[in-house]
Amino acid sequence: MKLDPITVVEVGPRDGLQYESVFFPTQDKIALINSLSQTGLKRIEVTSFVHPKVIPHLKDAMEVLRGMDKAPGVIYSALVPNLKGCQRALETPVDELALFVSASQTHNQKNVGMSIEDSLSGFADIAREALTAGKSLRGYVITAFGCPYEGAIALARVEQITEAYAELGVREVSLGDTTGMANPRRVSEVFEQLGREHRGIPLAAHFHNSRGLGLANAYAAYQTGCRVFDSSVGGLGGCPTAVGAMGNIPTEDLVNLMEEMGVSTGLDFTKLMESVQLVQRVLGGELASYTCKQGRPNWGAVQPKI
Ligand code: ZN
Repeated sequence: MKLDPITVVEVGPRDGLQYESVFFPTQDKIALINSLSQTGLKRIEVTSFVHPKVIPHLKDAMEVLRGMDKAPGVIYSALVPNLKGCQRALETPVDELALFVSASQTHNQKNVGMSIEDSLSGFADIAREALTAGKSLRGYVITAFGCPYEGAIALARVEQITEAYAELGVREVSLGDTTGMANPRRVSEVFEQLGREHRGIPLAAHFHNSRGLGLANAYAAYQTGCRVFDSSVGGLGGCPTAVGAMGNIPTEDLVNLMEEMGVSTGLDFTKLMESVQLVQRVLGGELASYTCKQGRPNWGAVQPKI
């Protein structure tokens, strides 16, 4: 049986590097993005225009976007928190802007100092400017599977935010398990209820591996119809004491999971490992990904029948 392919959205240069313990030098960021652009990825989130005081590791957003080489057919996106960030991003060759709001009032308040409603109404100006400038928009719903302050998140909240994004002209909504609280059963419930698309907007899955369930959650999401997955090269996004330990699901492990099941990702694993090695060289230490250590299974001459 032929299985549907997936689209991988690489978020390592943004979601990953913003949390690493050390500053990833600008030239290395550019080299990483250029390397990732050669792997077959069609979507790469390269940086963030959140204020450098909040995310000092990505203070070089402008230099990165202006210094990297854009490969044909690849969409490069950047996270923007507000209109000022949007306007700065529009001075660069970025293709897509990503907006974010939490599904939890408390988390949104702690994260950006305002209510969900205020976040969403603030997006109207950003969306107008971005769309006028010919950029596409992506929307994140963070803490969509659970919040460390509020616990369970009502699906109705996620639906409302997705609908608000749809009205703004967002082309895809990514549901984020920001603090690694999801489990495969909950993930299945969410995608079964919301569908692969909600009100015509495709839904992506964004899992963090904080409790080791990231790949299991990705499998559950695939089984229930999700076809777009966010992941991070080398599992970037660690905590100060362990490189890569709490990052997004590693892109190479996601690719291995899917390709072993016969699900095409469009990525060249050998090329992807060159990007992983670049991350490892810059950060030192060991990354959290499995295939980084083990490679992919060697089936010799006998390929498994899928
Ligand atoms: Zn994330």
